[in-house]
Amino acid sequence: EEAVANNNRNTTASRLPIPSLRRADRSKPYDYLIVGAGFAGSVLAERLAAGSGKRVLVCDKRPHVAGNAYDHYDEHGVLVHRYGPHIFHTNSEEIFAYLSRFTRWRPYEHRVLADVGGKLLPMPINRTTLNGLYGLDLRDEGQAAAFLASRAEPVADIRTSRDVVVSAVGTDLYETFFQGYTRKQWGLDPSELDKAVTARVPTRTSMDDRYFLDTYQAMPADGFTAMFEAMLDHPNITLELGVDFEELRAEGLAPKLIFTGPIDAYYGHRFGALPYRSLRFQHETLDQRRFQPVAVVNYPAETVPYTRITEYKYLTGQVHPKTSISFEFACAEGDPYYPIPRPENQALFKQYEALARAERDVTFVGRLGTYRYYNMDQVVGQALATHRKLVGAAASIEAA
Ligand code: FAD
Ligand code: UDP
Repeated sequence: EEAVANNNRNTTASRLPIPSLRRADRSKPYDYLIVGAGFAGSVLAERLAAGSGKRVLVCDKRPHVAGNAYDHYDEHGVLVHRYGPHIFHTNSEEIFAYLSRFTRWRPYEHRVLADVGGKLLPMPINRTTLNGLYGLDLRDEGQAAAFLASRAEPVADIRTSRDVVVSAVGTDLYETFFQGYTRKQWGLDPSELDKAVTARVPTRTSMDDRYFLDTYQAMPADGFTAMFEAMLDHPNITLELGVDFEELRAEGLAPKLIFTGPIDAYYGHRFGALPYRSLRFQHETLDQRRFQPVAVVNYPAETVPYTRITEYKYLTGQVHPKTSISFEFACAEGDPYYPIPRPENQALFKQYEALARAERDVTFVGRLGTYRYYNMDQVVGQALATHRKLVGAAASIEAA
């Protein structure tokens, strides 16, 4: 079960500075200042430095690299994800091959159970979920599809996150699995959110209980942070951690800027604040090997204050006599984690995007910079495409 032994990384909570962590040399010319050392900023730093010979200064206001994908050994020596469970999955061979330059992988297929009144049922909804919830004996995909069809309530124009679920599985399953979870997660009713949000979670008539069906599903063998350290370890990259862009803004350290923080913050919120959903994590370590049967158990009931509990050893494969878990609470205030997909927010973003389009030397990338509910692989893809555009544009300017 616990397939991979503890790896050779430092298992104390405090770790040595990473090799490329140097104070910025103010007299040294940089070609690019990159704000944010998450996927967007780190992929662009690596491509510009190693791929295009540019000198790059990366700053992040947090004291570590990897953005929200940051993982570290907690005080008990268990590898945990500080900002909640991150599972890598993609259908893109290019993206997987690119990241494979910086890490080995541990195969991992994610499974999630939903706690419905103490009963643990597969999520996304599949045939096992239906049989378990209603005490049915649906034997094949046809029977499950017929059952769902008998429950589904057609919606003429599917626009919201309520429409998308109710039209597929009906009100009862919607209320059981989606309504409460979504209200807690977003502070909004599903009828107030774009359909794309709950459409991330499909409905199945098979008994496949994997959360993702992508071609590539794996975790970095030594963790995400180690992968980022390898990506950023280049003589042309200088890192300043624990440094906010606002502290550097006036210094004119580089002619080009790549900004992966919230786009509305860059513009001083001049059209009003773009709404982002925040999270609070309660991390605990238990003196037992296992806590729950899978990596993530969702709690869709509104009476339970948290949305899900994650047990990290399933994700990392670490062997350890203790186990670390986190309870996840969603909230309005705090670091921005999720753009909130709904029409009025998109309209506000478009105002900021118009300012961004008029910039010659500033590029916005990433989940916060482009206000898109992107997974990690999508951000990597966006960053690789941005690099191609930047160097393509530079090459054509030089040629002119
Ligand atoms: P971030 O990782 O947010 O990085 C932006 C960085 O910019 C941050 O480190 C921030 O500190 C820094 N910054 C912002 N403003 C400033 C400033 N003014 N000065 C200096 N630095 C600044 N994706 C998946 O593919 N699979 C998953 O299982 C998955 N699970 C997730 C679970 C949770 C709880 C969350 C929140 C996200 C999850 N994601 C998952 C999405 C994934 O986290 C993102 O796609 C990815 O991390 C985005 O990278 P980024 O570089 O755009 O942003
Ligand atoms: N969702 C839900 N119940 C669940 C799982 C998901 O209602 O058990 C909804 C919820 O609105 C959530 C969205 O589907 O925000 C997308 O789920 P996903 O697991 O992709 O969210 P993430 O991992 O990005 O937080």
